[in-house]
Amino acid sequence: MTNSLKPARVRMAPSPTGHFHLGSARTALYNYLLARKTGGQFILRIEDTDRKRFVEGAEEEIFDSLNWLGIPPDEGPHVGGHYGPYRQTERRDIYLEHAWILVEKGFAFPCFCTPEELAKVRQEQQERKQNPHYSGKCRALDPTEAARRIEAGENYVIRFKMPYEGTTTTHDHLRGAIVTENRYLDDFVLLKSDGLPTYHLAAMVDDHLMDITHVFRGSEWLATFPLHVQIVRAFGWDEPVWVHLSVFLKPSGKGKMSKREGAEALKDGHSIFVKDLEQLGYIPEGVLNWIALMGWGVAEDDVMSLEQMIERFDVDHLTPSPAGVNFAKLDHFNGAHIRLLPTEELAARIKPFYLRAGYSVDEPTLLAITPLIRERLVTLDDCLAFGGFFFQETVEPKPEELIAKGLDAKRSAEIARKAYEIFSGLPEISHETAEPPLRELVEELELKPNQVFGILRVAVTGQTVSPPLFESMEVIGKEMVLARVRNAIEILEKMG
Ligand code: GLU
Repeated sequence: MTNSLKPARVRMAPSPTGHFHLGSARTALYNYLLARKTGGQFILRIEDTDRKRFVEGAEEEIFDSLNWLGIPPDEGPHVGGHYGPYRQTERRDIYLEHAWILVEKGFAFPCFCTPEELAKVRQEQQERKQNPHYSGKCRALDPTEAARRIEAGENYVIRFKMPYEGTTTTHDHLRGAIVTENRYLDDFVLLKSDGLPTYHLAAMVDDHLMDITHVFRGSEWLATFPLHVQIVRAFGWDEPVWVHLSVFLKPSGKGKMSKREGAEALKDGHSIFVKDLEQLGYIPEGVLNWIALMGWGVAEDDVMSLEQMIERFDVDHLTPSPAGVNFAKLDHFNGAHIRLLPTEELAARIKPFYLRAGYSVDEPTLLAITPLIRERLVTLDDCLAFGGFFFQETVEPKPEELIAKGLDAKRSAEIARKAYEIFSGLPEISHETAEPPLRELVEELELKPNQVFGILRVAVTGQTVSPPLFESMEVIGKEMVLARVRNAIEILEKMG
């Protein structure tokens, strides 16, 4: 039913209170997929009414991360739309008006209790081992008396008048019906004394006014879900389809993901923040594939493009079970998507990593090495480890690594000299010209290919792991290969 052809209007509603993380990215992605699948709209709404937690720059990070991921909103503060404004602090009057509609309908009331009074009541309740809740004092106030006090300039909030009895039945798309006894709920604040709404009021009003059909949000909102449903019903509005997404578990699988785990991940070259993932050399295709499957009950490691995800997405397939944050899977998907990129595209994406590391990059070399290193890349910045030597004038092999397994420095130097002679006699060094005589040399000396090629690999690339040797030498060119082998011979001779 949820994937009927009716265009969905979905929203992500982040608070600009910190970095854009995996959870936000997953919500954004599911929104985007459903919108694209049904020909609907994906809306970005900035929930910035909690001024104490506001973080400068967080809003820009949200836009940047969505753009980088390639799932930009159709409507939002930067792109506009017919349902704006899309920043909640610009919608104050709307919330004020709606809070008073609920008061007039008898579902809410102004409350004049001071913070001190509330704290005192809370303390008394705690002493009596009761759950803290609003005392109910201002519920009974006569409306004319309340109006007089407001007129006189007294501070007030507006609270929801939670029924003391009965139950509320809510319906979560992934969990089914949930029945809550109203006595466990509180007279929640809807409008604060600064005139700004709480999430409870603002989100319900906006979701209605913005014609939202499906609400994807974190399962931390399940606790106040009955309140939200009561607010929507009090207004007499239709409810959206509610989808509370699963929580994320630590990589160890034990317990919820926390800020501390985030910091640990970074030490290990991973991160739960989208902006860091970009810096670390992850590509949007890999990140999207990874987060898509956290909470999506399809085969575990299906490599999917965004188009394929749109094709296959189905709200009915989402699962409420907790999702493990498994960075090995991120690496798997990232490598897989890197290998799917056309050469020119991958070259363009690794280039900034070379430039940032201080290499001067010429296009022909970049294009020539990209297919050689592609297979080995897990993240884009691996291009430095596997292919930095292509852009260096000289390499500095570790002397001990130039010695082939089972041989000594003297013998290794001899082998290098023989290879040098072969290379000098070639018109140019290429895979076709250099490999056959080198293989003959291996046989003639009754050695293993790895012994001979190992010396040359370290001599020419400066490292023990490299892209295919002969192809690499072809890119480096005869002159530079000879210079590097000569240098290796000198080093080996000094040791021997
Ligand atoms: N501002 C809320 C949050 O960041 C939004 C929750 C929702 O999507 O309704 O958690």
